[in-house]
Parts: sequence; C-alpha cells; structure tokens
Amino acid sequence: MKKTIIILIVLTLTCLGFTDDIGLMRKSLIMSTLWQTTSAEYRALAYQAYNIARLRLDEDLRITRTQKRAIIVDADETVIDNSAFQIKAIVDGAQYSRDFDNWVKSAEAKAIPGALDFLNYAFDNGCEIYYISNRKLRHMEGTLNNLKALGYPQSEESHILLNDDTSNKGIRRDQVAEDHFIVMLIGDNLIDFEDVFRMKNIEERFSSVEDFKDEFGKKFIILPNPMYGEWEKTLYGGPRQIPEKTKKKKLWEHLNNNK
Ligand SMILES: [Mg+2]
Repeated sequence: MKKTIIILIVLTLTCLGFTDDIGLMRKSLIMSTLWQTTSAEYRALAYQAYNIARLRLDEDLRITRTQKRAIIVDADETVIDNSAFQIKAIVDGAQYSRDFDNWVKSAEAKAIPGALDFLNYAFDNGCEIYYISNRKLRHMEGTLNNLKALGYPQSEESHILLNDDTSNKGIRRDQVAEDHFIVMLIGDNLIDFEDVFRMKNIEERFSSVEDFKDEFGKKFIILPNPMYGEWEKTLYGGPRQIPEKTKKKKLWEHLNNNK
C-alpha cells in the first residue's frame, strides 16, 4: 500500500514536470511569474518607480528649457504587462515567437501600475512621450492598439519606435534626442537606458551599473522584471534558445560560483 502511494506521488510530480530538468526551468518561470502577478511587493515597486519619476519630472519642470521635453519609455514590463502571456507559456506551452505575435495582436495586455497616470501627467505638462521597444516592426499595429486601448498618451506610430533592424536602442534614442531634451528614460532592462549595458557578462554589467549608479532614480527609472530580460540571457552567456539541460548546468554553475 505504502509503495503504491509513493509510486503515485512520483508519477504525479513527474506529470507536473517538477522532477526532471525541464521542470526546474518551468518551476523558475512559475515562481517569477507568480511574483510579478500576485505579489503586492511588485505593485508597490512599480508605484515607487513612477512616484520617483514624477518627483524628477516636477524638479525638471521648474527649469526653463528651450527644447521640447521628452520622456522615453520601454513598452514590455514598463508600460504594458505581459505576465498573462508568460502564464500562457507555462500553462498552455505558448512559444515566444509564434504565440507572442498573436498575443501582441490581441492587444489585451494590461497597464503597469502607475505608468498610465504618470505618462498622462507628463504629457499634460508638455512632455512628448516616446515608446522605444524591441518589439518587431510587424508588431506595430497590435502595440498601437494596446497602448491606445489602455489610454496611453501619444499612442501613434510616430511615437512608437520598434526594432527595425537592430535591438540597439541607442540609435532610436539619438533620433529623439536630436530635437528634444530627454528628461528621463524608464525601463525594466538596462539596455533601455544605455548601450554600454549591451552584451556583457555579469561582472561587466555590475561594473557598468557602478559607473552609472547616480543616474538610477534620476535620469534612469528602473522597474523589476524577474521573468526574463538581459539578466537571464547573461546567465546563459548568450541567447535563451539553448537546450534546457545546458541552461540548468549553467544555473548551477552560477549558484556554485556565488556560494
Ligand atoms: Mg521591457
């Protein structure tokens, strides 16, 4: 009887995917996605980010500027919340490229707490809002519809700069800087702020953050995203599309290196 129960538990855990290599990666994604979607701490941090943004904007508005002010925001996990897609990936096995296209088309993503009020406040106070995202050009219509549906200011093609042929956002930031004073940049990923953060290892990323430490909470406003991002790619030393077993091996290496 006891033996039968143990076998049943092992079978159940195996079905849930918690005991094999893929299970570890799924479990990691489950916890990070649940943190993003259910923790009040996440919401508090998002409000904190946008409260600081407003404080910084109010400081800047006291200065007379000849150039038009602009605020640059990233899209995913900065103004729009894709955690529902992450849940589809876990529960239904949705795939990033193919199914993400349909998710974008659906324009169903919700707003990140605090983002809508802040960007409307900034727009009402004369700032131009630019959405610089590494979504692809084919995602323009869905992104536009989603931003519009949520009520974001300047939800129009000329203010949404997507990934044309490079994920290097610096080129698009420079376009905005040509005829605007950029008050601040808001993102969930360091590459939303400066190209110096691109394609580096963990130590180099730490060092670059040290170099820019005074900018966080000032010109750079960062939001948390434990679900994905450059931080995760850095763990694998490159792209995320590698075998799950290799991912697991690399994760253990990092844990051992940081003991
Ligand atoms: Mg993002």
